[in-house]
Amino acid sequence: MTDTRTDVLIAGLGGIGAATAYHAARQGLEVMGLEQFHALHDRGSSHGHSRIFRIAYFESPAYVPLARRALEGWRALERDTGRDLLVTTGGLDLGGPDGRLVSGSLAACREHDIPHEWWDRETLRRRAPGLDLPDDVEAVYQADAGILNPTRCTGTHIEAARAAGADLRFSVRVVDWDVGSEGVRVHTAGPDGDAEIVADRLIVTTGAWLGSGPLRDALPEIAPERQVVGWLPHVPGSGAAHHFPVVNADLQEGHVYLMPEHDGRGVKVGLYHHLHERIADPSVADMPPSDADRAVLQALADRYLVASGPVAHMRTCRFTLTPDEHFLVDTIADGRVVIGGGFSGHGFKFAPALAEALVALVRGLPPPVDVAPFGLARFGVAT
Ligand SMILES: Cc1cc2nc3c(=O)[nH]c(=O)nc-3n(C[C@H](O)[C@H](O)[C@H](O)COP(=O)(O)OP(=O)(O)OC[C@H]3O[C@@H](n4cnc5c(N)ncnc54)[C@H](O)[C@@H]3O)c2cc1C
Repeated sequence: MTDTRTDVLIAGLGGIGAATAYHAARQGLEVMGLEQFHALHDRGSSHGHSRIFRIAYFESPAYVPLARRALEGWRALERDTGRDLLVTTGGLDLGGPDGRLVSGSLAACREHDIPHEWWDRETLRRRAPGLDLPDDVEAVYQADAGILNPTRCTGTHIEAARAAGADLRFSVRVVDWDVGSEGVRVHTAGPDGDAEIVADRLIVTTGAWLGSGPLRDALPEIAPERQVVGWLPHVPGSGAAHHFPVVNADLQEGHVYLMPEHDGRGVKVGLYHHLHERIADPSVADMPPSDADRAVLQALADRYLVASGPVAHMRTCRFTLTPDEHFLVDTIADGRVVIGGGFSGHGFKFAPALAEALVALVRGLPPPVDVAPFGLARFGVAT
């Protein structure tokens, strides 16, 4: 058993934890990050080829400043590393005019003065000819939306964090911790056995494991949910250059999302909450994609793409849902422990901005963007 000391220990190096390690190290903190699996594994929420980036945030205008800050953060990371990370395609939020997506997106645009266009059915037909939509839908088009490759982005954050001095260790699990006068004593298990690390502060970014780990009794219910997405490799006219933006759509099946061809993968299709399958134990391997999963995705593609084709490839992933499907960003234990989780299927795009906020909280500074709307107080939980 060793007894190491660090300023900040980050538990979980997925999409948000890796970004946090980078930002903390860049700000001169001594950073140790621990991840229970190998780097860029596929058992959490941040693997794969594509995540939608958007700033016209229909879920709530409260996310818009965070999204704008994230856009700056992704572009800064691209400049610092020389890598292309965010591909701008433009994005559509579409559905019935009074539905959650269109009215929510418009509200966000108006409140935050986001340049946008309103597309009626005729405009949709002309400018998004790859989509086959019902007659009663309208859309908000926002030009800054696009696609992030989460594996590439997280890998870039890991490398950049290490280059900035962070000590990142893989196949090491945070088992538990005690908060005391010396700081946070973190108990770990890894290939070299059990160990203890004392950190001034702990940041918990454990994704789908947040609700079942040491914080399970201190938080509202945080529930992992199985998702499956599919790709159709041969859809004519589906590249972004052919007017196929990223799409979030309020349709009869629920919240459908589509992405144009990207990284040679074909068109991506998914349904928020897919089959509504809660995962009791996030450490148990996910059920592999099945014929039932394929049927859901194929039906969406056949109905909403002018030219579809077979769903040739599928992948599972996890959402981590809070009770209201809004994020959880807050401190507990007199500020010694900072939580960033419950991203409820829409967190990846914010990684640089969430990271900055978590680092500010750990330093006792005001975050660059207000994260109070994402605090525990809304659940009546004392911090
Ligand atoms: C199918 C799908 C589509 C999505 N689409 C979008 C989208 O279009 N746009 C968007 O913005 N977001 C999207 N999301 C959501 C987004 O991907 C997630 O919100 C985000 O990736 C969550 O990152 P995270 O760091 O919280 O979790 P993860 O990346 O899973 O990281 C948590 C890490 O903590 C580790 N860990 C857990 N417990 C421990 C422990 N005790 N000790 C050490 N390590 C531990 C885990 O192994 C894991 O690596 C989507 C998610 C899915 C599943």
